Amino acid sequence: MFWRDFPTATAATKAFQQMLNAQPLKTPFKLELLGDLIAERHYFCAPRAIRPSRFRKIPAYRTYALEGDFSFSIPDRELGWHRVSWTKCLKPPLTNWDRIVRAMRDRCEPVKHSYKDAHPVCERCGIASSVEVHHESPSFHEIALHVRATVTDDHITDCLGSWDWFLKEDFSLPEGHAITTAFDSIHASGTLQALCRDCHNGTKKKIAR
Ligand SMILES: [Zn+2]
Repeated sequence: MFWRDFPTATAATKAFQQMLNAQPLKTPFKLELLGDLIAERHYFCAPRAIRPSRFRKIPAYRTYALEGDFSFSIPDRELGWHRVSWTKCLKPPLTNWDRIVRAMRDRCEPVKHSYKDAHPVCERCGIASSVEVHHESPSFHEIALHVRATVTDDHITDCLGSWDWFLKEDFSLPEGHAITTAFDSIHASGTLQALCRDCHNGTKKKIAR
């Protein structure tokens, strides 16, 4: 079984979709199985034994956002309603290192944006407008491996230790942390390249092979 009585993640997804479709918008409701799912499989709630007591569907563009009531989850904290994704609970779990690598990608974004602004024409074909910036050398994957080689397992635990999902949904690299410092210095020594759509697709095919 994938989880409880569900043989696969797809079967679980369909069942939860049906259960949630049956609920009205805005009105709080209790759904024990959904509470169990969050408490057992949510990446932030599960390790901390946090369980929302009820849920509500907030209208959002073409669909709804699911919120859990976390008022009674943690003593001495006024948490209240907080957006929570049940679909993430049905995906294969990410490791702590996966989360750090994702945060590294986020940290690159401002640098990549300003690089693209400074290089409006594709640096490979020299013709089309640049739309993407990629890590020419070392590749992003190599940068991540390099950082991993310079840090310990304790650094990884410690890096995520102060992250509070209730305050900030997406984990970002903490300023001054050993991992952040290592990433910044390795990233700064690499070369970026601004590319047009076609040339960028070409780099992706190269990686796939
Ligand atoms: Zn090009």
